[in-house]
Amino acid sequence: MKLHEYQAKALLAGYGVPVPLGEVAESAEQARKAAARLGGRTVVKAQVHAGGRGKAGGVKVAADADEAHSVAAALIDTRLVTFQTGPRGAPVDRVLVEQTVDVARELYLSVTTDGGRRRPVVIASAAGGMEIEEVARTDPSQILQEVVDPAIGFQPFQGRRLATGLDLPPALVRSFVELVTNCYKAYMEKDCSMIEVNPLVVTTDGVLLALDAKVSIDDDALFRRREEGQLHDPNQDEPLEVEAAKYDISYVKLDGNVGCMVNGAGLAMATMDTIQAAGAEPANFLDVGGGASEEKVAQAITIMLSDSQVERVLVNIFGGILRCDIAARGVVAAYEQAQRQPPLVVRMLGTNVDEGKAILADSGLPITQVNTLQEAATAIAG
Ligand code: ADP
Ligand code: MG
Repeated sequence: MKLHEYQAKALLAGYGVPVPLGEVAESAEQARKAAARLGGRTVVKAQVHAGGRGKAGGVKVAADADEAHSVAAALIDTRLVTFQTGPRGAPVDRVLVEQTVDVARELYLSVTTDGGRRRPVVIASAAGGMEIEEVARTDPSQILQEVVDPAIGFQPFQGRRLATGLDLPPALVRSFVELVTNCYKAYMEKDCSMIEVNPLVVTTDGVLLALDAKVSIDDDALFRRREEGQLHDPNQDEPLEVEAAKYDISYVKLDGNVGCMVNGAGLAMATMDTIQAAGAEPANFLDVGGGASEEKVAQAITIMLSDSQVERVLVNIFGGILRCDIAARGVVAAYEQAQRQPPLVVRMLGTNVDEGKAILADSGLPITQVNTLQEAATAIAG
């Protein structure tokens, strides 16, 4: 679960991480008043669950309270498209009005979990700011990492090593180590999957400040993070993903045009990889689950077909607990109700496969049946 920047900053401030003064505003008038309280000259920042706002016009300096009003008016109730949002963008329901900070240096700092090492890792770079993705790609030597032993936590020597790597002046080392230690503490105590401060700035007055903050809470820990769970903003979620979650279907919207319905997360990922290798682009990840019912399969297909980007559909079922005849009935039921019937490639194997295939063949729908995943990939790539 992602937090907004203003929520992330409040969370970090609670752990003693220094952040600029700011106020969230849901209307242009509120933004004007907030800017006036903050001294007039402010930065107005669109609150969406995505980075890349600066480059997309979602972060603007306002010279005074009136300008904060007009900048907020131009942002609120629009959709902001950044390189992280996809073409539809994300809705801007509020802005953060923040004091302007005179920046001497922009650093990068994050805490996340390194799946490969199975440990938390603190990542830092002297090349912070809006080009960090580019730096990571072209000059990975500029990305510093400290792997943390979770049994003993982030150690001060690791903080000092990062400070040296970032070439921080001696006067800032102590506060830097404290800041990173506090971020790590927040990361562990709040069950985060990521805390990213980009940029972490050194101001012209020589003070460290978290100028941006992105925090994600591990969804699987939300049962014990009730307070943070309250911060969820459903408006930022992909509508089709929200719909799928209601039926306990794992669905992730992607950019391609081949709708994929598969049972089992591993098989779903293998299916996406295989069709991609054959030259097709998946429109989604969809795991309908092991013991899905006919209704659930039908619901999954219906959700998929409601994505107008879906031009072809691939069903890949390994019938174990979910029998092939049940999957076939669900697919046919959803297709018969659907307003459009894009061509369908089905690969089925396992329990009651002959019955399943017969149901599909008798349906009169535009279905190509194949026996292997490779054949399915070739057929769907056309
Ligand atoms: P994003 O990462 O989504 O682009 P940021 O919050 O990092 O958004 O803002 C983009 C850039 O805008 C920052 O790299 C920084 O240079 C500038 N900026 C952001 N907030 C402030 C602020 N309060 N004062 C001065 N500059 C700011
Ligand atoms: Mg940023």
